[in-house]
Amino acid sequence: MSKQRSNNEVKAKKFLGQHFLEDEAIAEKIVDSLKIKDYNNILEIGPGMGVLTKYLLKKPVTTYVIEIDRESIAYLKNNYLNLAPRIIEKDFLKYDLSETFKEEPFAIIGNFPYNISTQIVFKTLELRHQIPEFSGMFQKEVAQRICSKEGSKVYGILSVLTQAFYDAEYLFTVPPTVFNPPPRVESGVLRLTRKEDYSLPCNEKLFFRVVKTAFQQRRKTLRNSLKTFNLSISLKANVIFEKRPEQLSVSQFLKLTSLIENDVVNE
Ligand code: SAH
Repeated sequence: MSKQRSNNEVKAKKFLGQHFLEDEAIAEKIVDSLKIKDYNNILEIGPGMGVLTKYLLKKPVTTYVIEIDRESIAYLKNNYLNLAPRIIEKDFLKYDLSETFKEEPFAIIGNFPYNISTQIVFKTLELRHQIPEFSGMFQKEVAQRICSKEGSKVYGILSVLTQAFYDAEYLFTVPPTVFNPPPRVESGVLRLTRKEDYSLPCNEKLFFRVVKTAFQQRRKTLRNSLKTFNLSISLKANVIFEKRPEQLSVSQFLKLTSLIENDVVNE
């Protein structure tokens, strides 16, 4: 794809997080990161001018794209005729995906709009029963955070919640120079593969609340940051409460939630 085409036909819109990837080899590598197992549909978020889409269309699956930008949609319709019936002209965050996929599983892929990265991940977690695999590009720090392990400085809410359901792999870094216009930051490609058993051993809402509350005050011990949970004295004596949130692995967070769930406050 030439730079000229992108400049002439679609002018990037900043508020939509538009940075068009211009390196075909990287585009193909991102698409090839999908293992394509146990599903027949793929949804690409924010296809723009279709740099990933054209490689997706070569795969033995049905490709759908969801795009909010009218100019990009017009471009896709003109250049990818077979795709036209599967272009969803909606905002990914607002669209009810069951209208397209019903109960069927689908993978997600994209060079995502970075301004809504976290929301894309949270929506994926909500729909995890239907999403066995997720690959794509984020701002590098966000991709690293999602994949990081306990003990790392960037380990946080997004890491724990994602890794409770998915194995997260940071695949490779992409420099700003291969985009038009170039973003100010480096990008990172990751892959999420849903765990074989992704059920939780504890209450899901409580788990989310525990993780979020603990990391809101990440420098404090859990004994201090989880005060609002009104825990029994005997539970608070457990050594796990002496730790800070970034020291807890995902499975320890799940265990902590079970302990809180089963706590009996004897006042
Ligand atoms: N995948 C293309 C474009 C990446 S830029 C490429 O690699 O070149 C991000 C794209 O996401 C843009 O096309 C933008 O219009 C689209 N987008 C932004 N917000 C969106 C939303 N809420 N729902 C769907 N698409 C969105």
